[in-house]
Amino acid sequence: MKILQVIPALNSGGVERGLVEFAREIVKRGHESIVLSSGGRLVKELEAQGTRHIEMPVHLKALRTLKLVGPVRKLLKELRPDVVHVRSRVPAWIVWLAWRGMPRDQRPHLVSTFHGLYSINFYSAVMARAEHMIAISQCVQDYIIKNYRVDPRKITLIHRGVDVGVFKPGVPDPAWLSTLLQTYPALAGKQVILMPGRLSRWKGQEAFLDLMVALIKQRPDCHGVVVGDADPEKAHYREELKQKAIDLGLADHVTFVGHRSDILQFYRLAEIVCHMSNRPEPFGRTLTEALACDTKVVAFDRGGAAESLSACFPDGLVPQDDLAAFLRRALDLLGQHKAIDVKPEFLLEHQVEATLDVYRRLL
Ligand code: UDP
Repeated sequence: MKILQVIPALNSGGVERGLVEFAREIVKRGHESIVLSSGGRLVKELEAQGTRHIEMPVHLKALRTLKLVGPVRKLLKELRPDVVHVRSRVPAWIVWLAWRGMPRDQRPHLVSTFHGLYSINFYSAVMARAEHMIAISQCVQDYIIKNYRVDPRKITLIHRGVDVGVFKPGVPDPAWLSTLLQTYPALAGKQVILMPGRLSRWKGQEAFLDLMVALIKQRPDCHGVVVGDADPEKAHYREELKQKAIDLGLADHVTFVGHRSDILQFYRLAEIVCHMSNRPEPFGRTLTEALACDTKVVAFDRGGAAESLSACFPDGLVPQDDLAAFLRRALDLLGQHKAIDVKPEFLLEHQVEATLDVYRRLL
């Protein structure tokens, strides 16, 4: 099959990472992979793995973006892909308008993945105009059924799959660890409590700081590590969080390490990984990545995070927003060895096969 994926940009974030992994896997299976985006730091990796990248400004949330409808239609006619897979709303609008203007017998099949719980309005509804929709969790599937008038048979639930070729159990690389400890000597000899993810008000870093205040009172041998950065337009939030940590007296107990491409090493280093989003997470890749490294995860019982955790490590689930319960569970789990079982439906292999199956059914 010839598959064209369309995404706003290729920088960081779960959707981008997932697209690159999926593209690599379909190339491995002998399909032709093309990606249309406005570019970004992951393009090199994508191309090195055998995908053709085409650059157009398909990321701009502005009326002038509609000027791309003609060029995209021309592109679809030239490329003649079997399937076009849109993963976000601006690209979905451009592609849908281009696609609708083509003669039916020349149209590729149109698939969308709902990567988020989008605001409910006309703009978001374009995601539901695809011939087939993929929901990345049960919570996203419920959201689609509740908010859009779509035939449930047109929706397939496919969890985001973790790449167990990369995320596997092990100890951190010794050279990596020594560099880390040189940079952040406060981590030496400590049990690391990890908070991975974009710095954003709803991702729960503030709750994490509150948790750490209580945790270190009982376990001064613990140290919090926050991995991830804010989106460029929200850089002030990073400073706000760091100030909050100082105000809470956590300067020596929590370290912010910024965005890291070596997140695997942090999962391996961590004693416990926290997930504390205060809204339902559409999926939450950091959970399955950590679990695949055999690291215990504690999370609030809501959204996609609750789905992967209840399937793979139910011991880590605590009632929503109950910080005291979160603390008790983290304290309980410290130092305990617990069985973690990443179920097949959360593996990349399954995600790729199930997605290809959606394409095949359409064809
Ligand atoms: N990530 C990373 N380095 C960081 C922070 C995050 O590589 O410093 C990756 C993380 O491994 C995961 C993705 O970014 O694959 C975040 O996905 P998630 O579903 O947790 O959240 P999103 O950012 O998509 O809302």
